[in-house]
Amino acid sequence: MKYRIAVIPGDGIGKEVMESAIEVLRASDAPLEFIEYEAGDEVLKRRGVALPEETIEGSKEADAVLFGSAGETAADVIVRLRRELKTYANIRPAKSFEGVKCLHHDVDIVIIRENTEDVYKRLENEITEDIIVDLRVTTKEAVERICRFAFEYAKERGRKKVALVHKANVLKKSDGMAKRIFYEVARNYKNIVAEDYYVDAASMFLVMNPQRFDVMVMSNMFGDILSDLASGLVGGLGLSPSANIGDESALFEPVHGSAPDIAGKGIANPSAMILSAVMMLEYLGEKERAERIEKALRESIKEGLTTPDLGGKLKTKEMTEEIIKRL
Ligand code: ATP
Repeated sequence: MKYRIAVIPGDGIGKEVMESAIEVLRASDAPLEFIEYEAGDEVLKRRGVALPEETIEGSKEADAVLFGSAGETAADVIVRLRRELKTYANIRPAKSFEGVKCLHHDVDIVIIRENTEDVYKRLENEITEDIIVDLRVTTKEAVERICRFAFEYAKERGRKKVALVHKANVLKKSDGMAKRIFYEVARNYKNIVAEDYYVDAASMFLVMNPQRFDVMVMSNMFGDILSDLASGLVGGLGLSPSANIGDESALFEPVHGSAPDIAGKGIANPSAMILSAVMMLEYLGEKERAERIEKALRESIKEGLTTPDLGGKLKTKEMTEEIIKRL
């Protein structure tokens, strides 16, 4: 049996890094069948719609979705696709790479970001021309679901701690509720340490002492910001993968966007996209292949066989070839 993978390269470097990921997946001999769909800025220009219906339907029917990146239409493409697929949990790991110069060298953090509400509901109300009110939505159901997901994730992987990041001193009702629910859920996981941090303090500790964190769970906007910070701790956006998980669908994408400044130059780092494919293989139960690809990628980076963002001299295609050689 082959898993059906919906492939959406999207815009800019999304197309370039997707090509690399597919090549690596093919070289690993994973039992996958790829079906390509289109979305993004260029599709909007050509067809008048950024996220065509067949892309949504194809993604729903697939066993998993691989997504490259969307440019200016990102809100209409990826934010909508996550909603259509009901992927409520966004997993963003940040793990140090040997051979990459960074502030810290033993970071191993997984940020679990709530994916369905908060300001990403995009309920923006224009009260007057000068006053806009954005609604920050928090529901008990979504908070409970994401907290349970974070503890289950930690339990399955033998991780020791889960930290809630919030702002309950100001947002007393919404984040106050989140904090209460978090500790209620934590009671079912006696072997995992539960702790909580204000988002401002968490940001400082992430920079000064990231080793204190293990799994972190937070609302949508805090997760968006802190996961980029965490990505910066281990070498930047070129190395940061993510997974969007729901009960029926899963979508895997690099944290970075379409990077218009380097698009078309063939120098984008394919690692974030390849590591997203690794997360997809784990999700599909192909653990051995997933580990093999990650190991080959980490070896290439350790040997300095990288794209310029990490100080190397290789083009995207050349770095991909080095990874495949080490598979
Ligand atoms: P978008 O609007 O699509 O999000 P952006 O440029 O605002 O694009 P990113 O695409 O996330 O945001 O890029 C931010 C910076 O990181 C850019 O300078 C880009 O060149 C760099 N960058 C992002 N991804 C990669 C990558 N895979 N390899 C090398 N550099 C990258």
